[in-house]
Amino acid sequence: MRKLLHNFLNLFFPPLCIVCHSRLAEGEEHICTECLLLLPKTNFHLQEDNRIEQFFAGRIPFGRVSAYAYFVKGGSMQSVVHELKYRYNPQLGRYLGRLCGENIKGSDFVRGIDLLVPVPLHPKRERQRGYNQSMEICKGISAVTGIPIDDTTLRRVVNNQSQTKNSRFDRWKNVEDIFSLADAEAFAGKHILLVDDVITTGSTIESCAKEILKSADSRISIYALATAN
Ligand SMILES: [Zn+2]
Repeated sequence: MRKLLHNFLNLFFPPLCIVCHSRLAEGEEHICTECLLLLPKTNFHLQEDNRIEQFFAGRIPFGRVSAYAYFVKGGSMQSVVHELKYRYNPQLGRYLGRLCGENIKGSDFVRGIDLLVPVPLHPKRERQRGYNQSMEICKGISAVTGIPIDDTTLRRVVNNQSQTKNSRFDRWKNVEDIFSLADAEAFAGKHILLVDDVITTGSTIESCAKEILKSADSRISIYALATAN
């Protein structure tokens, strides 16, 4: 019955590629095969001392940093991220997470990672959006790599997420002490992969990292779906 309804709806509202808006073929999900092949992947996970590692160098201590693809204004990843954040599409987040997982699985980048930790949203913001997009990405990565997720220890305690008009300096000031750990020992001795949707100024990541690193002997690596750097 469900399948029948699904087929019926597809007849009148065929699923479209979120990048080029062409009709998806049987077996395609969210993004058509052609657009998928054209996504601007970074492969930074295979490259030590890559561009985003240089970007974070000296700001926080980290193991490795990578992102799945480049975020360019007007580019395909902008459509993808917009759909993920503003069009209520948690399935897309899990799908993208699986792409990320397939990309980094088996590489040195994920070797030794104990936990995936999504950058948390403030609970109020998460209620508005219906989900945390970084958590959906983590679910996809976890499904492919088998690495467990911890989304309860790191918390966003200050809602500062309407800051788009602030200058870079103000934004940096704004993210100090907006995260806290529900359990100071949960990350002790662990190598955490902190997961975000898009890295822009890096200030949110920096703030999360500082909080996580308060746990004894914890280490972090960083991964995002996209990077503007
Ligand atoms: Zn397409």
